[in-house]
Amino acid sequence: MITRPTVVVLHAHPDDEAIFTGATIRTLADAGVRVVLVTATCGEQGIPRVTLAPGETLRARRIAELERACELLGVARLVLLGYRDSGAHAGPYGFGDLGSAPAAGVAGHLERIVVAEHAEALVHYDPRGIYGHVDHVQVHRAGARVVRRLGITGYEATVDAARLRRGPRHVLQQAAGERLDAGVHPSRIGLTLHADVAALQAKQAAMAAHASQIGPEYLDPDGFAQAYRREWFVRRGAPGVIDAVAARRSMSTAAIAPAAATWSAATWSAATRSAATRSAAAAVAPVIERSAS
Ligand SMILES: [Zn+2]
Repeated sequence: MITRPTVVVLHAHPDDEAIFTGATIRTLADAGVRVVLVTATCGEQGIPRVTLAPGETLRARRIAELERACELLGVARLVLLGYRDSGAHAGPYGFGDLGSAPAAGVAGHLERIVVAEHAEALVHYDPRGIYGHVDHVQVHRAGARVVRRLGITGYEATVDAARLRRGPRHVLQQAAGERLDAGVHPSRIGLTLHADVAALQAKQAAMAAHASQIGPEYLDPDGFAQAYRREWFVRRGAPGVIDAVAARRSMSTAAIAPAAATWSAATWSAATRSAATRSAAAAVAPVIERSAS
């Protein structure tokens, strides 16, 4: 039996999945890959650009926006880890904030999901969390730990900041402006996914779904492709399913799936299975589950 290849994608806040990996998620889903999105916080500390309804919380609004983005991107399962957004400051961070959580604890929750899903690859962030936000750095720490422990392929989402500065306005400049210090040197980028038209449209729609955070000035149709068409990754481990899909994105699901299943058998090592056994006894975090029907 050919199992459907699965990729777990970890992000810090609702909207990061669309901004940094929206085209990749849509491209994977279109190639028949099961994408499980794990979002660590609900973005409670974001600054709303819209007026909330009476009694509505930003948390509730952002979860609804995230669910809509998941539909647009073809996410099969959404898991919210339930940590609180640490906010864009240097601390101290409160109890329950992702910024104060032990990395091993975050990694433990993530590992249970990766193991249960038999995922062969994990997407998270580069060591600076792309641009230094504490929640993004925590995502890197947890993601890198799980990649190391399970021996699966890690894809660290990043950006080519020099390219972003040269191009049309990018939402990363919302906070950092011209002082944008983000990403890695182009020589360290191991994989660049170039979105096709359909994936780029899905990414644009998913970003627009996060209307409480992303304004229309960052969604200019004329400059959108130039600003957001590329998605960059530093790869840890053997080339995996995202390399294949990025290179052969026009291939049919039937052509992609058997190859990915082969990698799955190779990477799903004894170490992974023993880790599954260990983590089964670990404590379970409060997790909100949303699955596509
Ligand atoms: Zn974020």
